[in-house]
Amino acid sequence: MATLGTPSNTIEVLKKYNFNFQKKFGQNFLIDTHILEKIIASSGITKEDCVLEIGPGIGTMTQYLAENARQVIAVEIDKALIPILEDTLSPYENVTVINKDILKVDINHIVEEKNENKPIKVVANLPYYITTPIIMGLFESGVPLESITIMVQKEVADRMQVGPGTKDYGALSLAVQYYAKPEVMIQVPPTCFMPKPNVGSTVIKLTRYENPPVEANDVKHMFSLIRASFNQRRKTLVNGLTNAQEVKAQKEDIIKALGAMELPLTIRGEALTLEQFARLSNLLLSPENT
Ligand code: SAM
Repeated sequence: MATLGTPSNTIEVLKKYNFNFQKKFGQNFLIDTHILEKIIASSGITKEDCVLEIGPGIGTMTQYLAENARQVIAVEIDKALIPILEDTLSPYENVTVINKDILKVDINHIVEEKNENKPIKVVANLPYYITTPIIMGLFESGVPLESITIMVQKEVADRMQVGPGTKDYGALSLAVQYYAKPEVMIQVPPTCFMPKPNVGSTVIKLTRYENPPVEANDVKHMFSLIRASFNQRRKTLVNGLTNAQEVKAQKEDIIKALGAMELPLTIRGEALTLEQFARLSNLLLSPENT
């Protein structure tokens, strides 16, 4: 089996297995060896590393990962791709393919079993329809991980890096910035994929902080405030949080907390920085401090 990553070798494999692309799984396969090499270089993987790949497709990037890492765990939802992966990955003994939906896999268990609970690196050309739940899930599940190097839709990469005052600012921006340092590594045009997506793509590297940049006494609580604020973007923070079922704060405590933070009662959640959400969360958990 030839090395993948070129249009002709990709077409050969697809024809051999009579493979039909499934739009619902966000299948756009990489066909550019330069981009693949750049992704591997950006991810900083070494022969010591255990890598989790989400969505290996026909195994294009998996081959590069297998060459450069100690071990690769690849999770693929589409069962039609499994015989293809068995073929394209047959030269590599350090790859395990799991035929499951990544959102239903117990990644903590995999890391415990395959990497003695030491931090893994995640590298993926993500299915764009579930980018946000995958990233939030990786961070919030507390999986031991060092970095996530992922191809996402260009506008999602933008969303991960912005602060208050832009329309792209949201729960994803705050989650990424609480857990990791985001760095844009590569811009990838649609021509590097088969079939071509309708949008530009960006490879972004999220390097997990050892210590998050703000102190939240209860991270889950802070993110429930963040979610509630952005679910009701048009409302003032006071009304948004009072109406939200997952937030158990009393209206008068929210008003007192905003007073202690010297913020106007008319402020919307989308105007708060990560630091302000952390402070608000801490104050609401201990209203006696306001
Ligand atoms: N890594 C390959 C490449 O770069 O050529 C394929 C990338 S393609 C954008 C996304 C892959 O993720 C597809 O193979 C798709 O079947 C798979 N996928 C989609 N949803 C998934 C899920 N929930 N869990 C695991 N894999 C999924």
